Amino acid sequence: MAEHPVIRLKARAGRRVRLGAPWVFSNEIVMDQAAKSLPPGSLIDLKADDGQNIGTGYFNPASLISVRLLTRETGALIDAEFFIAALNRALRRRAALYDEPFYRLVHAEGDGLPGVVIDRFDEIVSVQATTAGMEKLTPELLAALDAAIAPRTVILRNDTPSRALEGLDSYVKAAKGEMPSRIAVSENGARYFADLGGGQKTGWYYDQRDNRAFMAKLARGKSVLDAYCYAGGFAIVAARGGASDVGGIDSSQSALALAEEAAAANQVKARFVKADVFDELERLAAAKEKFGVVIADPPPFVKSRKDLEPGAKAYRKLARLAASVTAPEGFLLLASCSHNIPAERFAQECAIGIARAGRNAALIHQAGAGPDHPVHPMLPETAYLKALVYALD
Ligand code: SAH
Repeated sequence: MAEHPVIRLKARAGRRVRLGAPWVFSNEIVMDQAAKSLPPGSLIDLKADDGQNIGTGYFNPASLISVRLLTRETGALIDAEFFIAALNRALRRRAALYDEPFYRLVHAEGDGLPGVVIDRFDEIVSVQATTAGMEKLTPELLAALDAAIAPRTVILRNDTPSRALEGLDSYVKAAKGEMPSRIAVSENGARYFADLGGGQKTGWYYDQRDNRAFMAKLARGKSVLDAYCYAGGFAIVAARGGASDVGGIDSSQSALALAEEAAAANQVKARFVKADVFDELERLAAAKEKFGVVIADPPPFVKSRKDLEPGAKAYRKLARLAASVTAPEGFLLLASCSHNIPAERFAQECAIGIARAGRNAALIHQAGAGPDHPVHPMLPETAYLKALVYALD
């Protein structure tokens, strides 16, 4: 048992947390002087206004999500043992899903560890803490990682912009071992390369793993255009799977270099072009070029709620241009990794864009992130990735 300061829910507030959600918003708690003076990230016990125990979590008086619960046990000791138990549960889940140690090992609330994501690349892990609470608990978490998987290298990728909301600074460093310049990723039988933050803010997007495999199957014998190809996630597995011709577009030279390295390592041919996707799609459409499979997996167009309308328009335009270069009876994947556009709205913009290209389509597959990105069942809104696959006439 541990002694923690108490944060109290207001009368009749906190319905969601009582039902099982791990979040409490700032307007749901008694924000008195004692609460306001707690240092950001303090461990606390959460109680209802009638004194009923709710659990142990961490608190940030400056954040909209004031409390994130770590356990339903009150007065819980949040030490390396606590994290070892959580990591071992996450490891058992991944062991059931994957044959190799390449996956997102911890997906925050979905794995019972709010405020942290951990990606595993065999003996190399990258850890990203997004809250003041998890930043404070990082030493215990790192000790637990050593006990659970003994990684050779641990990179702290603490450079996500959302950290500013929690009053945290931005940095990338090796907490254990050396910062690697390139790391190898094994996924869907293909070999890729990623840069874990040496020079630029990158990494590997495991969330699209199953969608990459799905598209690779559709691509057999077809020409493929992978727009926003990054390190070749969709392109390389499609080429390995027997696509007749594969091209990728990205604006980042360093991403294209990773994609080219992957093509060589997999002994496949693919052309990677440095260009703005909108410009290149306009050019290809004007030249009446067509591809049997088109993939458009852009960076988030809706970064915050106020960007919803311009971002939605950009998704619509991308859908129109991508559909216009999709061959008759070809397949088109349109994806969004924006938390801030609801799935229905994204689907609507895609549908309108495809129709504006003068194409008829059938939606054949709707997917999100893979199972190494579990969603807390009380937080469906944290499922950010939307991938829609259309068969065009
Ligand atoms: N599909 C990739 C992930 C894409 S991430 C995968 O499966 O791994 C988004 C990519 O879009 C990044 O590589 C970024 O460099 C690129 N990008 C961002 N803006 C762009 C633009 N205007 N034109 C082309 N590429 C762009």
